[in-house]
Amino acid sequence: MRAVLFDRFGGPLDVREVPVPAVSPRGAVIRVEATGLCRSDWHGWQGHDADITRLPHVPGHELAGVLEAVGAEVRDWRPGDRVTVPFVAACGSCTACATGDQQVCERQTQPGFTHWGSFAEYVAVENADVNLVALPPGMSFTTAASLGCRFATAFRAVAQVGEVRPGEWVAVHGCGGVGLSAVMIAAAAGARVVAVDVNAGALRLAEQLGATNVINNAAAGDAAAGNTARDTVAGDSTVGNTAAGNTAGDTVAGNAGGVAAQVIELTGGGAHVSIDALGSAPTCAASVLGLRRRGRHVQVGLLPGGRTPVPMDRVIAYELRVLGSHGMAAHAYPPMLELIGSGALRPDRLVTRTIGLEEAGRALAEIGSVPGVTVIVPRAGL
Ligand SMILES: [Zn+2]
Ligand SMILES: [Zn+2]
Repeated sequence: MRAVLFDRFGGPLDVREVPVPAVSPRGAVIRVEATGLCRSDWHGWQGHDADITRLPHVPGHELAGVLEAVGAEVRDWRPGDRVTVPFVAACGSCTACATGDQQVCERQTQPGFTHWGSFAEYVAVENADVNLVALPPGMSFTTAASLGCRFATAFRAVAQVGEVRPGEWVAVHGCGGVGLSAVMIAAAAGARVVAVDVNAGALRLAEQLGATNVINNAAAGDAAAGNTARDTVAGDSTVGNTAAGNTAGDTVAGNAGGVAAQVIELTGGGAHVSIDALGSAPTCAASVLGLRRRGRHVQVGLLPGGRTPVPMDRVIAYELRVLGSHGMAAHAYPPMLELIGSGALRPDRLVTRTIGLEEAGRALAEIGSVPGVTVIVPRAGL
């Protein structure tokens, strides 16, 4: 099969011929029909998950396709079934799984991180009976590819962890795939949404998807990082992860304060729920500081490489709740799929381009340059 491979972290991403993955007794092999391009793939390629990723490696974890083969012990699935999977593939038997929290499984596997992923014609997943999700008949593979990671992650963050209610104000910091999904889902839940980003195109999309107000933080970002708006996102992540308590950190915190002040003004006192959909010290701080009293901060964006400072003085003074949200278990998909089926949620509107496998490496290296969700179709042209 063809797959996008890298031999060293941050190194070239080439399409090569490699063996089709083997199916394990409780696992399945999926013929990949579509796979999303996600910032987590970029982190993996950069080596931020080097503790779990072995080289050479194939990225990709947001996939949809058709079952090619199932293991001998799989009960509920057959070759030919149309499926997607959460990016956290759970073991099904640890304490977390036993209590229904497969999204934080103690023995989880993740395609594209713990083993080869879906930037390929075929991908293997473990524990098929626990992790596979059947696609509704009318749903395209391209739309479904976003459900395994960003849309499902955003759905759980907004609906289940953030418990957003009609009429509440929700602030979304970072309008990549997960942030734009959160904007749409919060708006559909009846919330008023403030979207924050450094990219004007991403903010235009956020408005189209239901944001009531937008804040363009590009100017503040330039001041903090001294470079272009797009680089600011990556630059801030790096600075933030190493900057606790030093000069750079102070600059970042000041920047976060400016965004938070705008959120507080727009929402008449602060958001009820605030989501850090990017994952950086400044976006995390801005999210916490933009909340009203008793507000809920939901951390969704991954914070690779270190401990991130959180304004805990505000957490105690305002009695804030600080919550983490990590994907969504397969069994929790039906309410989301129902809302998609009814047209209340439109993940298809997040997809702004589809590309072939040959273009995937370049698109990954330039992640963030095209607003919205990019989907790779590995078998395009075959
Ligand atoms: Zn488990
Ligand atoms: Zn993802």
